[in-house]
Amino acid sequence: MTNESTEFRDLNTSPRILLGPGPSMVHPRVLRVMATPMVGYLDPQFLEVMDDVQALLRSLFQTSNPLTLPISGTGSAGMEAALFNFLEEGDPVLVCVNGFFGARMVEIAGRCRASVARLDVPWGEAVLARQVDEALRARPAKVVALVHGETSTGVQQPLDEIGAVVRRHGALFLVDTVASLGGVPVAVDEIGIDVCYAGSQKCLSVPPGLAPLTVSPRAMDILSSRKTPVQSWYLDLSLIRKYWSSERVYHHTAPIGLNYGLREALRMVQEEGLANCFERHSRTAALLWDGLEALGLQLIVPRESRLPSLTTVRVPEGVDEMAVRRQLLNEYNIEIAGGLGAFKGKAWRVGLMGYSCRPENVLALLGAIERILRRKGSS
Ligand SMILES: *Cc1c(COP(=O)(O)O)cnc(C)c1O
Repeated sequence: MTNESTEFRDLNTSPRILLGPGPSMVHPRVLRVMATPMVGYLDPQFLEVMDDVQALLRSLFQTSNPLTLPISGTGSAGMEAALFNFLEEGDPVLVCVNGFFGARMVEIAGRCRASVARLDVPWGEAVLARQVDEALRARPAKVVALVHGETSTGVQQPLDEIGAVVRRHGALFLVDTVASLGGVPVAVDEIGIDVCYAGSQKCLSVPPGLAPLTVSPRAMDILSSRKTPVQSWYLDLSLIRKYWSSERVYHHTAPIGLNYGLREALRMVQEEGLANCFERHSRTAALLWDGLEALGLQLIVPRESRLPSLTTVRVPEGVDEMAVRRQLLNEYNIEIAGGLGAFKGKAWRVGLMGYSCRPENVLALLGAIERILRRKGSS
């Protein structure tokens, strides 16, 4: 006998147009393959999926790194894996901070008991190669970490020159591409990135839960000469790689269904062509930027530093930013986000990631914002 007073009805969420900083909308093809029957984590059919995912990720990261695989966990698990594996107690690390996620790296590096120096740059600006060079002259570091697409500010961090500086100082270059991989080029080998991670639910449009990661042979050498075991057993790459390489040694059960989805999403990027995919992101972002400016709104980041996959918009004087977002969601089924940290209450954040990044979504958002702001002005 049960004595339930609550009725648990069918889950029937209203479909949304997801234009926030992630998750993005999931393509029906990805949803469909995710319903593929379960197989075992060592089933030859799944081993083939694993091999495909690794090959497709190498092509997206533009790398030949043997160790390229999805960490089981969200983007933050990728961040922890990247920092935990390459930092030991007392190791000097330089973290560039120009937004919320740079600050999260500082927090995690501190928990590795590394000796953390931070290079702070105002929110909304990019870090300059000269600043990194000066910081490394003042104090050498084993690892230099920064965020490529800062989702809290909408800045796209140029990587080429900083990569060269980091290499010249003999440090490892660690880059967060959670909000950029799949939306803008991430040329890991060409730039000389040693450790790079991303997230499945942003420009790849897979549900949250996987964090693609790639590690250079140089960084692998450092990993294998660690003095102490990686503090996190779950994120220990020396163990995870044995499952993803030909050894196939059980470590943890891979999220099978998510890997089906990631494989399909990566296949779709391949079909579209990397260059076309990046072109779509920049073209659709330009449509958004021009449309917002035509409505009289101001964008926070100068055009040359803007990240196509995430745009920050200044909230006009006298407008209740949360009320606008509530109306967008309740009346138009459109999700955007508010500002984080220094931009709290002052900015809206509009994401154009993966399958969400389509002109029809931009036009729906522009039309809705225009109506909401005009109604407010006339009331
Ligand atoms: C979203 C995001 C993260 C964190 O990813 P989660 O999937 O939320 O854990 C880290 N870095 C950047 C730049 C992000 O946009």
